[in-house]
Amino acid sequence: MPFAKALRCRECGREYPLEPLHVCEFCFGPLEVSYDYETMHRNITRETIERGPNSVWRYADFLPCDPEYAVDINAGFTPLIRAKNLGEHLGLKHLYVKNDCANPTWSFKDRVVTVAATRARQFGFQTLACASTGNLANSVSAHAARAGLDAYVFIPSDLERGKIVGSSIYGATLVAVDGNYDDVNRLCSELADTYPWAFVNINMRPYYAEGSKTLAYEVAEQLGWRAPEHVVVPMASGSLYVKIWKGLQEMARLWLIDSVQTKMSGAQARGCSPIVTAAEAGTMNIRPVRPNTIAKSLAIGNPADGYYALQVMQESGGHAVASEDGEIVAGITLLAESEGIFAETAGGVVIAGLTKLAREGKIAPDELTVAYITGGGLKTQEAIEGALAEPLHVEPTIASFEASVQRQGLALSGNR
Ligand SMILES: *Cc1c(COP(=O)(O)O)cnc(C)c1O
Ligand SMILES: [Zn+2]
Repeated sequence: MPFAKALRCRECGREYPLEPLHVCEFCFGPLEVSYDYETMHRNITRETIERGPNSVWRYADFLPCDPEYAVDINAGFTPLIRAKNLGEHLGLKHLYVKNDCANPTWSFKDRVVTVAATRARQFGFQTLACASTGNLANSVSAHAARAGLDAYVFIPSDLERGKIVGSSIYGATLVAVDGNYDDVNRLCSELADTYPWAFVNINMRPYYAEGSKTLAYEVAEQLGWRAPEHVVVPMASGSLYVKIWKGLQEMARLWLIDSVQTKMSGAQARGCSPIVTAAEAGTMNIRPVRPNTIAKSLAIGNPADGYYALQVMQESGGHAVASEDGEIVAGITLLAESEGIFAETAGGVVIAGLTKLAREGKIAPDELTVAYITGGGLKTQEAIEGALAEPLHVEPTIASFEASVQRQGLALSGNR
């Protein structure tokens, strides 16, 4: 918190105090937290970071809230895995998977919510709320429970069962809205003007979004203090994608890593690909769509940060890639079978996109590449129903077991 300085309009540059604000009064541009990088440069070193806790709070100096108020269920510091098997399959020699399924509520959203909830507590809010495609709802509910705050979470009514249970369990009030995410978001924007609640991704959005930067810091630190050469990131509103870029730039600016040459590739589902479609058409004009995909966590038809995502894509030389639902399912099973990581549909979007980019030569075989896997698969079991082998059903006898194995044409292999 000592280094966060102001909220700054991304469009006209006007500055505002660090209050629960999110749009510029003059031009309606989005507000973003700005920092005193001079002072940060003098105070932050690799060593000061390495001395911190094994969670996102080791990067507290880069976040816009006071750790004294921390609402902490141990988000972050997730494994970065050298994906040898998947890399071999795709012809990529230096492939890594950032496994953010390993967060407390099994998605990267814990990173953004821990920051937003902390700031909300610092502001004195008593109710935490959000408009969610599912994972955010889970994380807000869990953090509110931890902080002893009330929680109202709003979701589209057609959400996966795992994401509904994953919110109710923490005692939050869950509101299923008849409509898609964009309808939910519109309702919540109106509610945020009516009730004195901290909507983490509306009136708290400038603070919330900063939590995503920790996915840049962590990966760079885990790679031995260097930026990846290529990353593949899932995009819903585009916020995570834009903030990973911001995080890498900040590290270079503070001399924690060398200059950043990272190509930022962004992945969406074809059934909701407003950002990718604009990139493919070579326009900065994003046309909202009506989502129709199994990748519900990414199903935002009118992406708030889409324009800025397109800017980052251009600036970094990354690519836009979209995949059909069948390819997404194949991506989920490929990651599970090659690396032992069970991702949700957003992970399938990333692996399907990674596969295409590798096949098309858009990722070179020796580029140090990181695929961001942002959520766990047990929450989206509906998506893979029918895609998996059924268990063998047997009587409790060796004869029945062997007959069943034979029927399946499986080999009884293996030596000790
Ligand atoms: C929310 C979410 C994202 C990214 O969302 P943005 O709005 O683009 O920041 C990615 N993956 C999963 C699993 C998510 O829940
Ligand atoms: Zn402005």
